[in-house]
Amino acid sequence: MDSNTRAALAGLPSMTSILASAQLSDVPHDVVKDAARSVLADVRTALLSGALDSAHVPDEQAILERVTRVVQAARARRLRAVINATGVVLHTNLGRAPLAAEVAQAVSEVAAGYANVELELSHGQRGGRLSGVEAPLQALTGADRAIAVNNNAAAVLLVLTALSRDREVVVSRGELVEIGGSFRVPDVVSAGGAKLVEVGTTNRTRAADFDRVVTDQTAVLLRVHPSNFRQVGFVHRPDRAALVAVARKHGVPLVEDLGSGLLGAAPVAGVGLEEEGVEAALAAGVDLVCFSGDKLLGGPQAGIIVGRADLVERCRRHPLYRALRLDKLGLVALEATLRMYVEGRGDHIPTRAMLMATPDALREQAVALAARIPGATVEADEGVTGGGALPGHGLAGWTVRLPDRPADALAKALRMGSPAVVARVADGAVRLDPRTVLPAERTALVAAVARARAVNDR
Ligand SMILES: *Cc1c(COP(=O)(O)O)cnc(C)c1O
Repeated sequence: MDSNTRAALAGLPSMTSILASAQLSDVPHDVVKDAARSVLADVRTALLSGALDSAHVPDEQAILERVTRVVQAARARRLRAVINATGVVLHTNLGRAPLAAEVAQAVSEVAAGYANVELELSHGQRGGRLSGVEAPLQALTGADRAIAVNNNAAAVLLVLTALSRDREVVVSRGELVEIGGSFRVPDVVSAGGAKLVEVGTTNRTRAADFDRVVTDQTAVLLRVHPSNFRQVGFVHRPDRAALVAVARKHGVPLVEDLGSGLLGAAPVAGVGLEEEGVEAALAAGVDLVCFSGDKLLGGPQAGIIVGRADLVERCRRHPLYRALRLDKLGLVALEATLRMYVEGRGDHIPTRAMLMATPDALREQAVALAARIPGATVEADEGVTGGGALPGHGLAGWTVRLPDRPADALAKALRMGSPAVVARVADGAVRLDPRTVLPAERTALVAAVARARAVNDR
């Protein structure tokens, strides 16, 4: 360490003088202390690594300002409810599926008290944590067994680790997909400790390509839903039934990562959603199926694994299961959402209702909304499923168009308002899509537009 650096380190303000600052007098002592520690450590590390020149060391006032910023950020409320006026039903940046009101109610009851998460009330002994989600999943999909973990990425990782560690996983080159947020099929296979065996080509793969590479080292044949893109032209995806036949012939399990995972009837007609049906995949003979809880299912973030009893049991017994398991809030939300399906009320799940909204109903809502917003007009427009489901398939609907300029400034004022509103900007105009606005949010949305306009006009 040179003498300049040593002098700069010695010259940093002391904890005592930071704590004595009037600027931070309304903040609990311990909080200021730890925030100051963090800021000082940062400056010291920068000095010692050479990233910060000793001539540019912040003085006491600058350090105090940094500490204040850390404290302010710590006190700020970042995550909050947002009105989704984008028309993107499963908007990943907006937390994907909103929960049904009765599901949110069940969550809040469990959140604010104790719950029988692992206690069987009938005999007072330890009970199965998953029994409340397993039974409805069995009833809804026909699966032998079912478990749930934190999200579908975790489900796929758990399945591959439990079934194929140190052995081979066979995947079509057309299905080595990236879902986003660093979930890439080849990386998940290697993270699970397995060796990836690619078969076929980018655009065309047949079941016979799988058949040819199976050896005594093969642990799993993996089929992955190409969730967020579509291949057209000279393409061939191996037929599910043909893959089942190959798997049976060799006595190797066929695992399918369905991505969205549809329970019950397709909410959007005529778009090949049948491919995503969990029940159909199991009925066709797929041994294990993994899917998300917060995509087409419309529940909380979760990853669900259903299928053959022995394979599900291997996943449940694997040490990784404990690390990936669902927390009690996710558990109760998933249970309550699945119960809506079992009781025949699946179409009241918000995301399903949004996907099923007809253009006529949306037009009516858009007209009613526009009538409360001066200058607004309605236009035929398309919503989007989002969440990597139904790529390239627009949902016919109507939006409310706001004439205000500049549109980006109004969109920002809407985002910064309370409640925050996220809207779509297209052709230089803000558009509000009623599809994703919950009925209880409509009045708040109208008021939010008025407030955002006032900010924008200033
Ligand atoms: C979305 C998706 C995942 C990841 O699911 P999460 O629940 O977001 O973890 C994995 N595989 C496929 C095919 C998907 O579509």
